[in-house]
Amino acid sequence: MDIIYFNGEFLPFENATISVYDRGFLFGDGVYEVIPVFDGKPFEIKAHLERLKKSLEAVQIDLPLSNQRWIEICAELIQKNNLKESTFTLYLHVTRGSEHCRRHTISKDMKPTVIVTCMKGQFFTEEERYKGFKAITLEDSRRRDCYIKEISLLPSVLLANKAISSGALEAILIRDGYVTEGAVSNVFIVRNNEIFTPALSNYILGGITRQVTLKVARDINIPFYEQLIAEKMLRDADEVWITASSREICPIVQLDEKLVGTGKMGPVAKKVIEAYEDYKLTVRDD
Ligand code: PLP
Repeated sequence: MDIIYFNGEFLPFENATISVYDRGFLFGDGVYEVIPVFDGKPFEIKAHLERLKKSLEAVQIDLPLSNQRWIEICAELIQKNNLKESTFTLYLHVTRGSEHCRRHTISKDMKPTVIVTCMKGQFFTEEERYKGFKAITLEDSRRRDCYIKEISLLPSVLLANKAISSGALEAILIRDGYVTEGAVSNVFIVRNNEIFTPALSNYILGGITRQVTLKVARDINIPFYEQLIAEKMLRDADEVWITASSREICPIVQLDEKLVGTGKMGPVAKKVIEAYEDYKLTVRDD
C-alpha cells in the first residue's frame, strides 16, 4: 500500500510532501471519503463519489476531478499496489490547498490538494461479527454540521478513543436525549422485528452502508423506519447494530454495562447481514 496518488502523480508515500501552509493542515479545511474494496473491487464507488461531491459543495471547494477520473485513479492505485485480490479501503482526501500565509478567509482560485491512498481498514470476520461487540453511550459533543464528511475530526477522535479505552468498539452518541450516530458509524435498532434508524439530518452523516442496509432490508421485506430515536428506545431495543464502510454491519450485544436483548447477535441482524453479503456478491459480479 506504499504507492499513493498525490496531486496528479503516483508516487511512494514517503516522497509526497505537503506545504506547512496547506489549509488542511492549518485548519482541518477539507473533506474525505473512505471506500471499501472487496477482492480488489471498490464497493458502491459512485455513491461515495456523490457524497464527496456534496461534502465539497458544502464547504465550497471546487470539484478537483471528474467521477471518471476518480474511478480511473482508484483502479490504477489498486493495480500499482498489487491489491487486485485484496480487501482494504481507498482513502480520498481533498483540502482547499495552500497559499503563502495563514488566514481564515478563503482566497479565490486556490488549487485543492488531492490525495488517494490504500489503507487496511477495520474489517471483521464472520465469526467476530456473529459474536457481536460492545458499545458505550456518550454525549454527542460534535458541532452541528455532521452531514459533511470533513477532515476536522477532533471531537470524533476523542469520542472514538473513549470507546476503545473502555473496551468498546464504538461510542453511540446522544444529543438532547436522542440517538444521532456512532463516533464513526451509523446506528440501527430493532424492536419487535422492525428496524429503526435515525432519519437523515444535519446531525448525522448519510452513511453509504446505512443506505445499502436499508436497501437490502427492503429487498427482504423487513419493515424499517427512519425517525427520531429516543435514548430509552435504544436502551430497550431487542437488537442494536452499527454500520460503516469497513466495519459493514456490526451487531452490538452489550451497551454500556447492559446486554442488548439476549446478549447475542439477533435474528434480524442475521437476516440483514446475509442479504448484505448477497448484495455485495451481485454488485461484484457486475
Ligand atoms: N457516521 C460517521 C460519523 C462516520 O464517520 C461514518 C464512517 O466513517 C459513518 C457514519 C458511516 O458511513 P459509511 O457507511 O459511508 O462508511
